[in-house]
Amino acid sequence: MKLLRYGLPGREAPGVLDAQGQIRDISSLTRDVDGAFLASDAFRALQKTDLSQLPVVSGQPRLGPCVGAIGKFVCIGLNYADHAEESGMPIPAEPVVFNKWTSAIVGPNDDVKIPRGSEKTDWEVELGVVIGKTASYIEEADAYDYVAGYCVVNDVSERAYQIERGGTWDKGKGCDTFGPTGPWLVTKDEVPDPHNLKLWLEVDGKRYQNGNTSTMIFNVPQIVAYLSRFMTLNPGDVISTGTPPGVGMGIKPQPVYLRAGQTMRLGIDGLGEQQQKVVAA
Ligand code: ZN
Repeated sequence: MKLLRYGLPGREAPGVLDAQGQIRDISSLTRDVDGAFLASDAFRALQKTDLSQLPVVSGQPRLGPCVGAIGKFVCIGLNYADHAEESGMPIPAEPVVFNKWTSAIVGPNDDVKIPRGSEKTDWEVELGVVIGKTASYIEEADAYDYVAGYCVVNDVSERAYQIERGGTWDKGKGCDTFGPTGPWLVTKDEVPDPHNLKLWLEVDGKRYQNGNTSTMIFNVPQIVAYLSRFMTLNPGDVISTGTPPGVGMGIKPQPVYLRAGQTMRLGIDGLGEQQQKVVAA
């Protein structure tokens, strides 16, 4: 099942995508596609519902982030060996963990704003994992029980803020609009193996990233179990699991960064596509 949220920013309504690609209204079942819904009986009931019984949403509304009221947006860094290498950083012995401020989260096709004064805004296509059940000190073997599904994330990153300005990476990861999330939350039953998905990203039609989640260093169960030892993961939290090679920072001999007026397009097998216009803040 592909869950989504549509409508104006901050006022999105809940929906699902049917087999014909039409949006169906599920507002009779829930107020939002959020953590409370993902943990509820209503969500389990929806998964057994004949979608053709639900009202069709007309037109082509804007899509919002596919999860509402995200409580935590946790990211894993350097989780692809070849990306660690292009970044000039060692392969981590334990997952590198950082945060994206929730104010950065936007819809999959919303504009991405280059912060004022930024010269090194970069892209990162990533597999997002959406938590569906409260997870604290869980075992790897049980980790999928706590996953609701998956989505596409663009972990937009300002490299000077991240690496050259001191402190943690967070400064360069959580700027406004740096977290396009969606278009859909694809439930885990439709993604039998999250470790064999192609993921790609283009800027103005030029393909820069062309990876596969099979080369992740720490896999989804390892990441979920690991994080649950440092924090309680709540339904509706999102974990972005790291990016394959091909980011602008790693391009030789000269890094390439985003400029206003450009367009990013990115996607993951079975999880849909995003497209963002790059604008000045
Ligand atoms: Zn990343």
